[in-house]
Amino acid sequence: MKTMRAVTITGHGGNEVVAVGERPVPSRARGEALVRVRAGGLNRVDLYMRDSGAGISHRIPQIMGLDGAGTVVDVDDDERRLSAGQAVVLHPGIGCGRCEFCLRGEHVLCTSMKFLGEHCDGTFADYVSLPARNVFPMPAGLDFIEAASLGVAPLTAWRMLFTKARVQPWETVLIFGIGGSVSLAALQLVKMIGGRAIVTSRDSAKLARAAELGADATINGATEDVAVRALELTGGRGVDVVIENVGETVWSAALKSLVRGGRIVTCGATSGDRPSADLRRVFIRQLQVFGSTHGTFAEFRDLLTTCEQGRFRPVIDSRHRLAGIHAALDRLEAGHQFGKIGIELDQD
Ligand SMILES: [Zn+2]
Repeated sequence: MKTMRAVTITGHGGNEVVAVGERPVPSRARGEALVRVRAGGLNRVDLYMRDSGAGISHRIPQIMGLDGAGTVVDVDDDERRLSAGQAVVLHPGIGCGRCEFCLRGEHVLCTSMKFLGEHCDGTFADYVSLPARNVFPMPAGLDFIEAASLGVAPLTAWRMLFTKARVQPWETVLIFGIGGSVSLAALQLVKMIGGRAIVTSRDSAKLARAAELGADATINGATEDVAVRALELTGGRGVDVVIENVGETVWSAALKSLVRGGRIVTCGATSGDRPSADLRRVFIRQLQVFGSTHGTFAEFRDLLTTCEQGRFRPVIDSRHRLAGIHAALDRLEAGHQFGKIGIELDQD
């Protein structure tokens, strides 16, 4: 049996359950593309799968990783979009293709959604086989690490801003927790369309870097009252849109920062998921609350087009080799990153 290098979880716990070793090269099923992975990237869910994976059906051992880019090795003879040798980027969400949500192009809502690296073998390996419809031509001008990092965080930010909140160029967007890849992509995308972006962090160095990336104003959540500052920065009016994935600790400030009729989009709850709903504020001020997670194929195509046009390039925090996976996971867990923590598969 042909084998390949792979990072697997061998159980649940700390980095001791993350093994770099050999696994069989996956066999390609009809309708799938076999891809030689050249780069991956870390997401918080990788830590979740290592720590417990609770509520996500998976096997042990399982190959880690959602983000991936590489080159096509093998596809069906009648596959028209892809060909061997082509550089590609992966959309890690695999829908059933048959439920009502898949049929209307919203496979991100699929009732039996499977993600690479969560429900099945992922991208931190030399090869991965996945449905060809999840494989997209890589935008010119990006390297493999940059391309790999598009499949989760920037796609999530895209759906939050453009599909859910429908942000307009004249609006002000408040983005919590700058430094994480979703927040950073949200900042870049707001600036891409000419909007005004205010960002928060408890880390002044991250705020300084966000300002360099175009943030119009920064708020230090450790030393300033975010809602008070957001109102000051908007002449007492409040922001049009809040982009949020921190959860409980910032929810109240987020609602208080919004203008009447404003929109808040949440895609995470790192600090807890049971904040006060503050319903009186929600209905009297007619706020709109959106939940969002990941993104569709159509949204991914739009994101890739903006990359192809040179209008969006993801921020890369650091690049690690496959053998350096433990240090990379430590860096993400400590929250020190500013942008995507990339994994390169060529240099080992
Ligand atoms: Zn489905």
